[in-house]
Amino acid sequence: NVPLADYDPEINDLVEKEKYRQFSGLELIASENFTSQAVIEANGTCLTNKYSEGLPGARYYGGNEYIDQIELLCQKRALEAFHLDPTEWGVNVQPYSGSTANFAAFTALISPQDRIMGLDLPSGGHLTHGYQTAKKKISSSSIYFQSMPYQVDPVTGYIDYDRLEANAKLFRPKVLICGASAYPREWDYARLRKVANEHDAYLMMDMAHISGLVATHEAANPFEFCDIVTTTTHKTLRGPRAGLIFFRRNSTEARNKGLEGRVNMAVFPSCQGGPHNNTIAAVAVTLKQAASPEFVAYAKQVRANARTLGEALTGYGYKLVTGGTDNHSVLWDLRPQRFTGSKVEKLCDLANITLNKNAVHGDVSAVTPGGVRLGTSALTSRSFKEADFVKVAEFLHRAVQIGLKAQEQCGSRMLKDFLKVVEDSPEVAQLRTDV
Ligand code: PLP
Repeated sequence: NVPLADYDPEINDLVEKEKYRQFSGLELIASENFTSQAVIEANGTCLTNKYSEGLPGARYYGGNEYIDQIELLCQKRALEAFHLDPTEWGVNVQPYSGSTANFAAFTALISPQDRIMGLDLPSGGHLTHGYQTAKKKISSSSIYFQSMPYQVDPVTGYIDYDRLEANAKLFRPKVLICGASAYPREWDYARLRKVANEHDAYLMMDMAHISGLVATHEAANPFEFCDIVTTTTHKTLRGPRAGLIFFRRNSTEARNKGLEGRVNMAVFPSCQGGPHNNTIAAVAVTLKQAASPEFVAYAKQVRANARTLGEALTGYGYKLVTGGTDNHSVLWDLRPQRFTGSKVEKLCDLANITLNKNAVHGDVSAVTPGGVRLGTSALTSRSFKEADFVKVAEFLHRAVQIGLKAQEQCGSRMLKDFLKVVEDSPEVAQLRTDV
């Protein structure tokens, strides 16, 4: 039992460097967060040694006395954290990630080649909601199912519900998916339920990005309207990397008959093998935290910080998709500045500000998207308040100004030429020091 630092200094050194990177810079990636010490500890336990295919009380391996108790506790806490009645809702806590949770959900609900409708990736949707391009089926959800995505309105940036409804009439989806990776606004669940009902389709919410807000009533409640709700546990919920699938139990709707058995079967044995028990324990700790008053205050602050960040950027004259935000994320459209998201991302990396390029509606190319996505959940975990985000906006503004000057200087539109200019820029070095 030699400690990591002694046994493998090479890996240990890289882990330490990554730790330093995470805490010395400004983390603005909307899908990331900083887990607590307790979550990290649970994730690094001996539970990783154990095989436990099956469900509590019905495993394919012996020795699962304690693992059963951990998984049952995790299920109970998941229902409590989202204020769900266990006679109406059940949960599977075994998905390894959000992507596997979504594929398992489809496996439970529909057959190969059935039709699904989710928000298009260039409109802010996630890959696993049926992403395909005009030339190629990209995600397994578009390879194994027929996908017809819906989009945001190119002018307002809000979901175009009228068009969605009209297209659903033609396409008659079996699953209508809501939820996104880059959509700063609230969902109209009542409208989506109405559309789903017209086609007797399942309404599935992938609340990965906003689950911490849903748990704390800082976002509308999808459980009121949906048949099935999936989530990751590592974004606003602030846990380890994993997924959850909530399903309706004892529903009187014919389509939901046997949903519990279908979901459990889809996770194992259809899509996965043995659960990652260390992660399930860490998710249980996360859910205990998510039910605490401190977490409610945290989620409120996440939203207040996102509003402040958005307002500060608009104050500098920048354009935001939909003009603002209802949640933890801000989609910043840099096309009016004739600047690309890729350049902002790379330049900010040099200044220890971490964010990601993101498509904004109407982008011609997904390879050089015209915007960046910003999120406030990680820095709020580091106790950032509104005034800190005003400062963050100032740094971002400085970065863009430096970038625009460099773009002019370099006389080329190519990212690699641009990088050559900014890499040696004293202004970038100064920004990094100030950050
Ligand atoms: N669903 C949504 C809405 C997401 O944004 C993401 C990831 O960013 C996922 C699913 C996939 O989660 P994972 O990366 O854990 O597979």
